[in-house]
Amino acid sequence: MTDAAIVGTGPNGLAAAVTLARAGLKVALHEQADTPGGGLRSTSLFDSAVVHDICSAVHPMAAASAFFRAFDLPSRGVHLLQPDIPYAHPLPGGHVAAARRSIARTAEHLGADGRRWTRLLGPLVERSTTVVDLFLSDQRSLPHDLLTPALLVPRVLAHATKRTPFTTLEARALLTGVAAHAVGRLPSLASAAVALLLAHTAHASGWPLPEGGSIRIADALVADITAHGGTIHTGHHVKDLAELGNVPLVLLDVSPKEFLAIAGDQLPTAYRQALRRYRYGPGAAKADFLVSEPIPWTNPVVRQAGTVHLGGTHADIVRQENATAAGQRIPDPFMLVVDPAVTDPTRASGRKRPVWAYAHVPNGDTRDPVKTIRARIEEYAPGFTDTIIASRGLSAAQYATYNPNYVGGDIACGALTLRQTLARPALRRDPYTTPLPGVYLCSASTPPGPSVHGMCGYFAALSALRRHHGVRTSPDLSPKQNQESF
Ligand SMILES: Cc1cc2nc3c(=O)[nH]c(=O)nc-3n(C[C@H](O)[C@H](O)[C@H](O)COP(=O)(O)OP(=O)(O)OC[C@H]3O[C@@H](n4cnc5c(N)ncnc54)[C@H](O)[C@@H]3O)c2cc1C
Repeated sequence: MTDAAIVGTGPNGLAAAVTLARAGLKVALHEQADTPGGGLRSTSLFDSAVVHDICSAVHPMAAASAFFRAFDLPSRGVHLLQPDIPYAHPLPGGHVAAARRSIARTAEHLGADGRRWTRLLGPLVERSTTVVDLFLSDQRSLPHDLLTPALLVPRVLAHATKRTPFTTLEARALLTGVAAHAVGRLPSLASAAVALLLAHTAHASGWPLPEGGSIRIADALVADITAHGGTIHTGHHVKDLAELGNVPLVLLDVSPKEFLAIAGDQLPTAYRQALRRYRYGPGAAKADFLVSEPIPWTNPVVRQAGTVHLGGTHADIVRQENATAAGQRIPDPFMLVVDPAVTDPTRASGRKRPVWAYAHVPNGDTRDPVKTIRARIEEYAPGFTDTIIASRGLSAAQYATYNPNYVGGDIACGALTLRQTLARPALRRDPYTTPLPGVYLCSASTPPGPSVHGMCGYFAALSALRRHHGVRTSPDLSPKQNQESF
């Protein structure tokens, strides 16, 4: 007999399943795709020896979140490889801004802004675990200490305005490139929070890539679930809750739109309307390349970077993000580029290697981004085009078909706004509960939102354990417990 059914096997569905299985529940997962993993899938696209990350590639949050700290990926053989330069930002004229692992070395290269960079991020680096835990909280619990919010609140407010404390081209672009990970209007409270969270982790737990690709994270989660008696049913697109049978607990790693499709007729009007009002943000359009050489970035510093932000100056990025958020198709959208073999040489096979890149585009955009992305990389890395062996584009609209959680290609499963941080996806005391008894939401459409941190699934599972089984503490998620039980 199944104790809990989980719909969707993204990092949040898998984290929820691990947590429930570790508490002794018999879990069954249902996934519409042919393989588990959601945003963690990697596969070969052009050459059987070269693996491409279909969605996520770089994992600052999997290195830092409370769920993954307890789950302990490294002890399970998932090597989180750290680039010396977590992210770089090429600028016109061959200039570059780069975040090094060391905050001091980063500051050295930021001229007059070096001290300001250290003043802004240094205190957050020093107490990174509590900073991460506050950002990746259920947005309901009180913080464990008062110093962390006291450090964060003024910083977030200061960066949510048009004024920036930085004066150099480099520092201004460097931080704005990270703020653009919020995929929405700039500046805003959400983008300021995302910027501070991501920028400080570059100097703390890092922006690692899992050796072998993102799928290694999903593999470790799946292994733990099956080791604790869980089952995974792939190729099952759940279209009605009734398909899950008479199971006492249901956790849904799905978007509010999908929840409405699965159970809308059973939901009270007010909640149904709240889900209908839930807004989705701009989309992502991705290009995967198989290339014969590392990307020939003009500036040698960029060649060592794990992630490369292509957006130009601070003013350029603000213009790009605001136009995209307003639904305008622009020729130079903000984009992110990763050449994974720079950090993980196992990703190259002979002279073949993958390149991962995506651009921010209006929600639902149908354009193939390959030409735009190729031309933009070529601008900063002349000769890139000549290295391309094969390429594939996925428009924002195609992403929505690939994964129903990416509504219109919105990879955040809902726009990141102040309102949708607190009311994610609707205003409730416990945001993981729904009006349906025993039915919980656990996708990135719940707090703390997008990225591979597992916290939405973890919090939803803890809420379900507390309400239905009276369990008040987290089960042990460590690999040690795994070995003891089996
Ligand atoms: C191009 C791209 C780049 C990204 N880069 C990064 C990155 O580098 N680092 C990072 O941390 N994050 C990144 N992300 C975001 C990250 O992938 C997501 O935030 C994360 O995967 C969300 O996890 P989730 O479990 O909530 O949902 P998902 O990972 O989207 O998983 C949801 C799963 O549910 C399944 N599903 C949905 N509805 C149903 C149904 N009705 N029946 C059965 N199955 C269903 C879907 O098929 C999917 O497998 C990226 C995403 C994309 C697309």
